[in-house]
Amino acid sequence: KAKELGRGRYAFFIESLLEQSIRKIKIANALATAIELEELTIFYQAKVNNGEKICGFEALVRWNSKSEGMISPAEFIPIAEQSGRVTAISRWVIRQVFKDHVEIARITQRPTTVAINLSAYDLKEPGLVLYIQELLVAYDINPAGIEFEVTESAYLDNFKQATEVLSALRKLGFSIALDDFGTGYSSLSYLAQIKVDTIKIDRAFVWNIDQSLHDTKIIETIFDLAKALHLDICAEGVETPAQADFLISRGCHQLQGYYYAKPLPLEALESKITAFI
Ligand code: C2E
Ligand code: MG
Ligand code: MG
Ligand code: MG
Repeated sequence: KAKELGRGRYAFFIESLLEQSIRKIKIANALATAIELEELTIFYQAKVNNGEKICGFEALVRWNSKSEGMISPAEFIPIAEQSGRVTAISRWVIRQVFKDHVEIARITQRPTTVAINLSAYDLKEPGLVLYIQELLVAYDINPAGIEFEVTESAYLDNFKQATEVLSALRKLGFSIALDDFGTGYSSLSYLAQIKVDTIKIDRAFVWNIDQSLHDTKIIETIFDLAKALHLDICAEGVETPAQADFLISRGCHQLQGYYYAKPLPLEALESKITAFI
């Protein structure tokens, strides 16, 4: 009987593995035509300063696949990375943000930075900097209005090349933010060596800062470190007024999360963010 049960579990395990692989293959196939079928769009999530007024936005890609339905970037970006399609998606996102930039500036009527997420694979692509440089001219963008977000692991994946690409982007006048800070393991040892403008504290540290002494200590240590290195701090995943108060009282420069605004399509921005203008 135990044997039968074991075999049943084993079959179940294989079946679910198989289902997962089939889903991945379907997504990888559908991704191949996502750009030409115009299935990608960008949602913009507001970031506010410590006076709780808009200081920028983060561009977050969305994919509504005609064959597979809505798929989260948390699911399809890793598959795009594995199947070699992420750089095409990144290029599409960068171009779209540059196109939208004028409209965003009109809505906020103040200097506003739009952040674009880059993958580790983008930092290995030699043509990226030139591509961005050409778009900068074509869309007449002020690079001070664009920030690129990279994760710690994207940096560590290929430290030398990542440093080259990111310092080239900084020379052009763009700023760089280190995304999901605190989720890697060697952050503190290399933070002093790399050149970034902002660190974004991962929402894993934000969600119970006002309740857990442990997380409070971690956040305070990160803040001290950022201050010593003259870096700006952005807190992600701010969902409650208590979290916002805590972060602002500790000198956090930028805040982002559902408490202020969810990611929204460009057409909805103007009506939904008036409280923070
Ligand atoms: P990320 O860059 O760390 O983006 C933050 C994620 O947290 C977003 O999920 C955002 O919608 C979500 N979020 C924001 N505020 C809150 C909050 O208060 N509570 C909670 N629970 N979540 C919040 P999203 O849009 O699903 O994106 C997931 C990840 O996918 C991003 O993490 C980023 O790593 C990746 N991604 C999204 N867009 C792009 C893109 O254009 N290019 C690349 N390479 N990666 C992207
Ligand atoms: Mg990000
Ligand atoms: Mg993040
Ligand atoms: Mg995150």
